[in-house]
Amino acid sequence: MKSFYGIKESDLKDELVSLGYSKFSSSQIFDWVYRKKVKDFNLMSNIKKELREYLVSNYSLELPKIDKKEVSSDNTTKYLLRLNDNSLIETVLMYHDYGISLCVTSEVGCNMGCAFCASGLFKKKRELEASEMVSEIMTVEEDSNVKIGHIVIMGIGEPLDNFENVMNFINIINSPKGLEIGIRHITMSTCGIVPKIYELADLNLGINLAISLHAPNDEIRNKLMPISKRYKLSDLIEAIKYYYDKTKRRITFEYLMLDGINDSKENANELSDLLRGLNQYVNLIPYNEVKEFEFKTSKVDSVNVFYDTLKKRGINVTRRRKMGGDIDAACGQLRAKQLKGEI
Ligand code: SAH
Repeated sequence: MKSFYGIKESDLKDELVSLGYSKFSSSQIFDWVYRKKVKDFNLMSNIKKELREYLVSNYSLELPKIDKKEVSSDNTTKYLLRLNDNSLIETVLMYHDYGISLCVTSEVGCNMGCAFCASGLFKKKRELEASEMVSEIMTVEEDSNVKIGHIVIMGIGEPLDNFENVMNFINIINSPKGLEIGIRHITMSTCGIVPKIYELADLNLGINLAISLHAPNDEIRNKLMPISKRYKLSDLIEAIKYYYDKTKRRITFEYLMLDGINDSKENANELSDLLRGLNQYVNLIPYNEVKEFEFKTSKVDSVNVFYDTLKKRGINVTRRRKMGGDIDAACGQLRAKQLKGEI
């Protein structure tokens, strides 16, 4: 049986019309599932009995099980979810002054192999279906009794390595009859799979794009991120220019501050040269230390000098507040611990 959470509203409409039902029934069903949160098709009182029976025998409304949940002092809540095939994934709920956001996982494990990232400790087992990404939102909304208004696809996995499912996921959560998450409230973060950035640009969805840059030159980036050996920084920057020309959406560069690796004043100067002329902004991210690796978070003084240097050179830069630091909220940390039997 298929999961209901994987079907786009337009596809449901076509399916129902082909079965002889009215095209409005698909919006009614979306409303029951995504707004009224009803998990039993039989309770959908304005839907014809035969259609309810059809839905019951063709679609499941089952959600993943919550395997573990950790709440930090700032209320950031990390969920470890168990999928049908027993795969474990993480999703993180965050409360910001602008609203509530969820950090969504796109793959079970990750093959990008970034040297600092806990997700890479376990290779990719499989891609997530669109339905499984949607169910991350549904599970957390149900458990925490909140309405999630912003989505960041920044959990475990590389979204551009699971392109089609992620595109379907975005379509489903953006549906005005369903979760109605605004397209400008959806951010996708990528390590920079260059051909897929072109593909994404051509779709011109209107989502926010964040690039995990983490280095001002190929030499440092090669040491941190294997993807950098496939696509040089100059190719990545070309793709980003194309993306901007097509979409006119400003791109965020994420820059992880790693002590003694990429955080010198010289690195800041080099970064400003690299980004000059692009309509961009840089987000300096504090590194959540991972015990398996030797990387350390940059010292406060280095972050300040780095920040001031970029500012002086006309680069828009912000410092990301650290959230959930006391609960293993860094990518893949909770899952890694669980898989190693440490919790
Ligand atoms: N694969 C995508 C999305 C998942 S990673 C990407 O690379 O962007 C989301 C972000 O978390 C990336 O910027 C990644 O570099 C960063 N990250 C990974 N491990 C981290 C850690 N221990 N502390 C802080 N950020 C981390």
